[in-house]
Amino acid sequence: MKMTKIRTLFISLLIFGTLGCSTSPKVEPGVSLELAKFRKALISDVNYELLFNIPGKETEDISASETITFTLKEAGHDIQLDFRESAELLKSLQINGTDVEIQRREEHLILPAHLLNEGVNTVDIEFTAGESSLNRNPGYLYTLFVPDRARTAFPLFDQPDLKATYDLTLEIPVSWEAISNAPLAFVTENDSAKTLEFATSDLISSYLFSFVAGDFEAVSRTVGGREMTMLHRETDKEKVARNIDKIFELHAASLNWLEEYTGIDYPFQKFDFALIPTFQYGGMEHVGAIQYRASSLFLDEDPSESQLLSRASLIAHETAHMWFGDLVTMEWFNDVWTKEVFANFMAAIIMNPNFPDIDHDLNFVLRHHPSAYSVDRTEGANPIRQHLENLNEAGQMYGAIIYNKAPIMMRQLELLVGKELFKEGLREYLSTYSFGNATWPDLITILDQKTEQDLHAWSEVWVNTAGRPHFSVEFNEDDLPGREPLKYDVLVQSDPAGLQRVWPQQVGIWTISPKDSSFKFFDILSDGQKKFATLNKLRAETRVFNANGRGYGLFPADLKTLQHWEHMRDVRKGSHLINLYENMLEQNEVFPDSYLDELLGIVQTEENQLLLNLALGHIETIYWKLLTEEQRNEVQADLEDLLWNEMLAQTESSTKKTFFNTFRDIALSDNQVQKVYDIWSGELEIEGLNLAETDFISMAGDLAVKRPDLAAPIISEQLNRIENPDRKRRFEFIQPALSADQSIRDSFFESLKDEENRKTESWVLSALGYLHHPLRIDESDKYILPSLELLREIQTTGDIFFPKRWLDVNLGNHSSDEAVKTVHTFLDNNPDYNHQLKMKILQAADMMFRANEIKQYTK
Ligand SMILES: [Zn+2]
Repeated sequence: MKMTKIRTLFISLLIFGTLGCSTSPKVEPGVSLELAKFRKALISDVNYELLFNIPGKETEDISASETITFTLKEAGHDIQLDFRESAELLKSLQINGTDVEIQRREEHLILPAHLLNEGVNTVDIEFTAGESSLNRNPGYLYTLFVPDRARTAFPLFDQPDLKATYDLTLEIPVSWEAISNAPLAFVTENDSAKTLEFATSDLISSYLFSFVAGDFEAVSRTVGGREMTMLHRETDKEKVARNIDKIFELHAASLNWLEEYTGIDYPFQKFDFALIPTFQYGGMEHVGAIQYRASSLFLDEDPSESQLLSRASLIAHETAHMWFGDLVTMEWFNDVWTKEVFANFMAAIIMNPNFPDIDHDLNFVLRHHPSAYSVDRTEGANPIRQHLENLNEAGQMYGAIIYNKAPIMMRQLELLVGKELFKEGLREYLSTYSFGNATWPDLITILDQKTEQDLHAWSEVWVNTAGRPHFSVEFNEDDLPGREPLKYDVLVQSDPAGLQRVWPQQVGIWTISPKDSSFKFFDILSDGQKKFATLNKLRAETRVFNANGRGYGLFPADLKTLQHWEHMRDVRKGSHLINLYENMLEQNEVFPDSYLDELLGIVQTEENQLLLNLALGHIETIYWKLLTEEQRNEVQADLEDLLWNEMLAQTESSTKKTFFNTFRDIALSDNQVQKVYDIWSGELEIEGLNLAETDFISMAGDLAVKRPDLAAPIISEQLNRIENPDRKRRFEFIQPALSADQSIRDSFFESLKDEENRKTESWVLSALGYLHHPLRIDESDKYILPSLELLREIQTTGDIFFPKRWLDVNLGNHSSDEAVKTVHTFLDNNPDYNHQLKMKILQAADMMFRANEIKQYTK
């Protein structure tokens, strides 16, 4: 008897030991790390049987029901389901067959302990679906639940490491199409509605559960033995025809490459995708049912090289997620970057064979470095891996650091470990954690066994700390007894934060001496220094740092090196321009006006489209953000002429369009704006310049700002012209932001304080871009403070990228003393402001602060 008692005590101690606590975690909003760990230890074998009855009208409620089945390791605990919606939406609750009164507290539906069994439990819920993440539009809807928004639609365990299967049934209007994660099993139809029953899904995380339904065209193709279905709403038949083959091909090629690289066949039941006009960002990797922004895949006529590359890269990125993220998922959203880094890292390799003529090192550096630097140079820089206490802040993990800095870090890691061992490590990681979850330390532990290097220490600097190193060249002289002193240069890495960190990395330096030019790699390891040239050679030497685009940091650069432009390989040119730009922003002896002069020379000779884009982008930034008004007036006429003439001179249509777009953006003089107007109105036609509906919409927007006297007729004419219904709705939304009437613009901004009006985020961002157009800066600085005051709310209601993009567009064009003061005062007045959001503000205000300083200096 006694014996038994002791054993029971011992066993319960063991169980409590694994659960980490003896009582349920406290009920608080969101999904805390504590709650997630508690549930993970207790709950397994989760299945959701879900039914949504979706009416055609987007204003009518969606009635729904759900049966959740799960296994409990131990009874005696209240269990929290996550449901971030009003309690009124919950109609009835049954636990293991017993009707229960609904207890909803702090975004949770409580399942009382006394009704739950050790072993299998069943919960039945009838409810009205919450709508904040269903993205309902006239004629269609789509779910977007990343990172923790599934809990806004239906009650569940919303955490990435409680993977579950889903049995979904949708009742939809008879004319609609739908896709979800699993294949369609049965369809039954009556006159007005149909019922789609999908097969049981694979084991997936809650943020990857998804469906899309609506008036879509469904196109199915079999490529390389694989059937895929694409949903889209494009009405322009030529546009569809022009793009469709390539879209399927790129998906098939990505799938093949990934199977080969990972050694694992495509792991899920089927593979479809939907093109959505209003989609918040480029794409989202829902298992077997990827969503894309339609315009990222359906390109207009004469797409630029960089648009073609972006499309291929986006498709490769989302497809790579099927393995990296969907098959093996992060345990918690602090490691969300691990799936993003692999998707981007793989994408950069997958797309290469599709573009044999591209310098892929150049493409890599253009896609990653500028964007990573744009955060890492700021006071608000964040490390790649961050701490996350509650999933309701998971959106703040996202940003340029995880998408753009992390792949640079990963390439350095591949260099350190070696390509083959690195691939072996990834294969081991994927097969070990298939249909499960893993952390970054899990991966590092696997890789660490394959190399002599101490990867944990390496990862500490690169992954767990923020910022970038600064590089400089220092002259050294060693006294040698009885001989001439040895004179040489040293490349020195330093830590701008003064923490003596060293970012071990391989850096390339391209040198040109009067005799020859050469390229060298240097490993900057633990001491942060590398001797790299003896003085006799050095005297006449010109150098391009980070010459292969693999290194990371602020590198020395000067304008005179541009003399050697024509002898540089493309990647060196790209790296050098990026280095110049960074030094300009750091005010390291590169001045905006002199850099602009050089850029004007470059765009007249450079033929590589990617480099042209980069140079033209720098021109636009300098012109609108860094020149004083006086300086702008000085260069304006020459710049307009140059861009117009270059546009005319181009024989390649896509390059012609690239120049035209920059011209359209920059044109300010009456006669030049008139040219844009004449092209828009059809009066003037330029041979070889093929413009699509979206181009005319952009022109109309620009013209409305630059010609306020004509704004009203331009807007109404453009609205009449738009044929595609989705683009029409977008333009109707943006229209008040284009108005010449300040009070209309003010009330538009005011209207954004209502969550409902921020629903279609991509529209909001475009409209704000017009409100804050550089020509309207004096009338729009009053929006800065309210935009900051709204940020906390934006973070809770908006999707993952919205808070930063909201800040970028509200702050990015301003540089006045008042604007700077507004931001500083706001931060001073809110000393306890959410840390992550404060960092985002400092990131977004970086350009404002720097432009303000640069202009002071110029005055
Ligand atoms: Zn991704």
